[in-house]
Amino acid sequence: MKSKVKAIIDRAEQQCKANGTRMTSKRKQILYGLLQSDKALSAYELVEYCKTEFNETIPAMSVYRILEFLEEERLVHRLNLANKYVACAHIAGEHEHSVSQFLICQSCQRVKEVDISESVVRSLKQNVRDAGFELHRPQLEINCICAGCANSHA
Ligand SMILES: [Zn+2]
Ligand SMILES: [Zn+2]
Repeated sequence: MKSKVKAIIDRAEQQCKANGTRMTSKRKQILYGLLQSDKALSAYELVEYCKTEFNETIPAMSVYRILEFLEEERLVHRLNLANKYVACAHIAGEHEHSVSQFLICQSCQRVKEVDISESVVRSLKQNVRDAGFELHRPQLEINCICAGCANSHA
């Protein structure tokens, strides 16, 4: 494992310990796969990844359970639109975030999680309330073209 990614996983393991949960080796492998990728990955892509990278066969059902666990531990996010997963950009632990915003390149599927300002969150909440709804698991997913793809198409 690359040392930078390993440091993040060690940290995640400590965090789980503090929460009274356990980072098993399979959970680590899935998290490692997501940390290595700059694209969102589906459960099936992660099954393939573990097979080629670790020579480990993890059934898709288990991968889903592992992803659920990692999501509860706030280590990964599920993208609703694509039903795929990404490692949290704040996983290294600089600060907490309330609303995640994901920029998703429509061309290469690269995903970037970016911070969203407090004032935007406030007006978003107000908008939702005005419409008679309640904000539930706020998460923004925005269709974009990344700079790399924009340049290559220019
Ligand atoms: Zn995040
Ligand atoms: Zn792109």
